[in-house]
This record gives sequence, C-alpha cells and structure tokens, in this order.
Amino acid sequence: MTNHHDGSFPDGPSFPDALTAHDRARREQLHANLAEVEQRIAAACAAAKRPRDEVALVVVTKTYPAGDTRLLASLGVREVAENRDQDAAPKAADCADLSLTWHFVGQLQTNKVRSVVGYADYVHSVDRLKLVNALSSEVVRAGRPELGCLVQVALDRESAGGAGRAGASPGEVEALAEAVAAAPGLRLAGVMTVAPLAGPYAGDPAAAFGRLAEIASAVRAAHPAATMVSAGMSGDLEQAVAAGATHVRVGTAVLGARPPLR
Ligand SMILES: *Cc1c(COP(=O)(O)O)cnc(C)c1O
Repeated sequence: MTNHHDGSFPDGPSFPDALTAHDRARREQLHANLAEVEQRIAAACAAAKRPRDEVALVVVTKTYPAGDTRLLASLGVREVAENRDQDAAPKAADCADLSLTWHFVGQLQTNKVRSVVGYADYVHSVDRLKLVNALSSEVVRAGRPELGCLVQVALDRESAGGAGRAGASPGEVEALAEAVAAAPGLRLAGVMTVAPLAGPYAGDPAAAFGRLAEIASAVRAAHPAATMVSAGMSGDLEQAVAAGATHVRVGTAVLGARPPLR
C-alpha cells in the first residue's frame, strides 16, 4: 500500500516493444505528466517537512481507456482510482494481469456493490450505514480478503441540512467509522474528502483539508489503524499534503482534461 513511484519511471517488462507510434507518444506524455506531478508532491512534502514516502499518488483513470492504465503501470504507477462501476469493472478485468491496487472513489449505489467488491481494494466513498452493511455482506459472501473502507466526509454538510454532495456530515463520521470497524469483511482504513464547492469551506481547500485532518485524528483516536487520509486532486494537492493527506487522487494533471461527462 505504501507503493508509489520515486521519481524514476522504469520501463515495463519488454512491453514497450509492442507499442504503436500512437501509444509511444501517449506514454511519453504520461511520463512527462507523472514527473511533473511527482515534483509537485515532493515540493509539497518538503514545504510541509514531511517525508516523501508519507504521501501516495493514486492516479484517477476515470473516462480514460484501459490502454492508458496499462501504460501507467508500465511507468511505475501502482495505485489507480475509478469513480463509476460501469467503466471500472471492464477496465479492471482488462488489467487483471497487472499488479495494481484499485481504489473506488465515486458515489456507490448498493446495486453496484457486488461488482465493485469484485475488483476494488479500497472504497473511499463509504457514507451511509446501508452501504456499510451491503459491502460487508458481499465481501463475506464472496469470501475475498478484507475490503479497505474510508468514510467520505462531506464538509459542506457541516451544518445540518447542507446541500447534498456525497459523503457523511462530520457529525456522522464517528458512528459510521465504528460501524465499518465492527463489520465482518471490512477494514476501517481512514477518511476521504473532496474540497467542497459550497458551504463555509468553498474556495478554501486549505481550511477544508485542515478540518478533515481534525476529523481524521478523532477517528484514529478510536481506531489507530485507520491512518489513510485521502484528500487533494489536481488543483489542490499541495494544500492536502500540507494538511496531512496520505493519499492524493490525481486525474487531470496526469491524464489530461477529461471530455465532458456523457
Ligand atoms: C475525478 C476525481 C478525482 C481527480 O480529479 P482531478 O481534478 O482530475 O485530479 C479525485 N477524486 C475524485 C473523487 C474524483 O471523482
């Protein structure tokens, strides 16, 4: 789980020989983008006086084809994330021969739980009891290894009635964490957030991630093994690292701007 690239991107095992010119160009581009993101993470760690190996890069491959995931793996990426099961399930199947850790970071409906439990190592978007129960039952039924679960915190729901981004309100987090910790087949791994677009933290990711850090340490006080703090994306990874994130989820800065959602 602590795998991340160290700034060098070794060639995959003889894989590049088979690449078309188009794939080679794409690989070059991904290589350059990864190097740039790596520099940003390293600089943010240095500024925060944190060792570089405290922060893992999770590359968010959503909307991009399995071929890109394969190229990323050949460049040393070990952790990837997806947010829609419809796209993620076939991609994970296509890439089953690669040793990748799969993170599911999108809103998760209970009717997708069976599929997601089939390939995900972590679910970052656990935000309600019904989902905890569904994930637990499915992991037990499938007889697979424990699923790492992060409680997603919606910081725009700080005051009751906050408008509905996915996630639990800060006041709900501890009970949900307790439920995950007690659920067969699930392992409470930590907490996750997306910097909110509304509410008191809108436009202030540093403050949002600072609040997440408080919530994370309250969770750790009760559950010392729940050390993951998943925060920061292409636009705000520096603020997340400054606030103590252990996992940054970066899509655009590695893969390029996504086409508008279909
Ligand atoms: C898409 C996505 C990301 C990555 O966002 P970028 O701005 O493209 O880096 C991170 N986290 C979640 C939950 C996402 O859905």
